[in-house]
Amino acid sequence: MISLKHTIQSNRLADIEIIENFTDIAPLLTEKQVLVASERCLFCYDAPCINACPTAIDIPLFIRKINTGNAHGAAKEILSANILGGSCARVCPTETLCEDACVRNTHEDAPVSIGRLQRYAVEHLDPARGYPFTRAEETGKKIAVVGAGPAGLACAHRLAREGHQVTIFEAATKPGGLNEYGIAEYKLVNDYAQQEVEFVLQIGGIEIQYEKALGRDFTLKQLRDTHDAVFLGIGMGDSNGLNIPGEDLAGVEDAVDYISVLRQIDSLAELPVGQNIVVIGAGMTAIDIAVQSKKLGAGEVTMVYRRDQRAMGASVHEQELAQTHGVHFVFNAQPKQILGDENGVNAMQFNRTVVNEQGKLVATDEVIQLPCDLVFKAIGQKLHPDFLAQDSERPALCKSGRFAVDATFQTSIPKVYAGGDCIKGKDLVVEAVDHGNKAALTIHQVLQQEEKY
Ligand code: SF4
Repeated sequence: MISLKHTIQSNRLADIEIIENFTDIAPLLTEKQVLVASERCLFCYDAPCINACPTAIDIPLFIRKINTGNAHGAAKEILSANILGGSCARVCPTETLCEDACVRNTHEDAPVSIGRLQRYAVEHLDPARGYPFTRAEETGKKIAVVGAGPAGLACAHRLAREGHQVTIFEAATKPGGLNEYGIAEYKLVNDYAQQEVEFVLQIGGIEIQYEKALGRDFTLKQLRDTHDAVFLGIGMGDSNGLNIPGEDLAGVEDAVDYISVLRQIDSLAELPVGQNIVVIGAGMTAIDIAVQSKKLGAGEVTMVYRRDQRAMGASVHEQELAQTHGVHFVFNAQPKQILGDENGVNAMQFNRTVVNEQGKLVATDEVIQLPCDLVFKAIGQKLHPDFLAQDSERPALCKSGRFAVDATFQTSIPKVYAGGDCIKGKDLVVEAVDHGNKAALTIHQVLQQEEKY
């Protein structure tokens, strides 16, 4: 949680400025823009954009439907492949996925605006024409899904469509996971994450139990004993530490926690923010916290990364977004110590890094110091140790410390599956949906086989 110190203030900007700063970063296209954008699609045979989408949405097909005035049909096409197609259209790094693969993406041309067309389509799903999915006859099978984030919701929806009864156990008070608590505010405005969950639940056969956390309120064994299968979509739950002196000073914050508070606070102007901020990390979360800090009225924001710019996890598009908001970058600098006193942090020191002859990144003796009143750590997450502390039999972990799964998304424990951020991947919402979809199909097939024998 945010530890206040004297220089970390709220109300750095007037309410009206904050509202303007946090408006939708990529608003809905107009009818005319949609026509122009959809006309640009070449409707490629064997379209590379489909292969680049983790959920394999038939992009040329939905664009053709939009282009012929059938946005409702386009939405159905998208949602049948990706039930969270609305939020993915807003938060996907399309510049590294479908739009990167688009054949129009050349030096002389620009890719088709797939993400924005997808958003247009999903927003034009016509509720008067009924819910676009039907639920199969009840199978009597019960599946536990742990976590109401993108992976869990996608898995639950697929299973519910097949007639299974799904109970989602969610540790938080609201569903949505990353979409509700972790995505930059300006990418998912107007409570969209909750609207989307309501849409998912309309299929029926899904119950969500809130404030029920694995390891605290129930064990994996209890779920296995009472359900036909279990899907773990629990995210990571814990953040990596810097493990350097000064990390416990007031004003050293976890970026994920801060974004979670930011996403839930009623008035953004009331959120305290530093005047001189250092962000440690180079991924999407680091960009999100840096940009949002500027939007809240922070003075200087500097992102510091131990490698060079080419190694950054954040896309070039996201890097440019940060730069246009006045965020500075410092590369090849490794955290050494955080300086401060009883009032909190006031500077941070770094060792310069170089790549040695063996190709290894090493710290040098050169030290740089950045003044700051707030440090955000955005250096990745790890599985929370409490999740399975009470279970004698635990799913095996891979080298990255996440659950090891096979091609069917089954863990080392039979009928226990996992997906989303808690398994190895790129930590994207669309990828989590893909994991949930595929695990659900496997679970359904396994349960069907059992019925036959
Ligand atoms: Fe259309 Fe580009 Fe996909 Fe081809 S690759 S179908 S042009 S969006």
